[in-house]
Amino acid sequence: MGGLCEQCLKTGLVKPGEIVHHKVHLTPDNINDPEVSLSWNNLELLCRDCHAKAHGSLKRYKVDEMGRVIIK
Ligand SMILES: [Zn+2]
Ligand SMILES: [Zn+2]
Repeated sequence: MGGLCEQCLKTGLVKPGEIVHHKVHLTPDNINDPEVSLSWNNLELLCRDCHAKAHGSLKRYKVDEMGRVIIK
């Protein structure tokens, strides 16, 4: 889709979005629920920095240097 980072836009910054973030994270329990896995309401386009921040508050998830989520 090639949009802009939604979090940065809120603070007046214009940055290209790089990563589609699921607001509700996918788990084995909800991955078959289309409301979670496919609904745009659950997706947010973020830049790498904002994506790392979004996950920084969740101790269960780590983000590598490419902004990808590592689930241990
Ligand atoms: Zn951002
Ligand atoms: Zn994410």
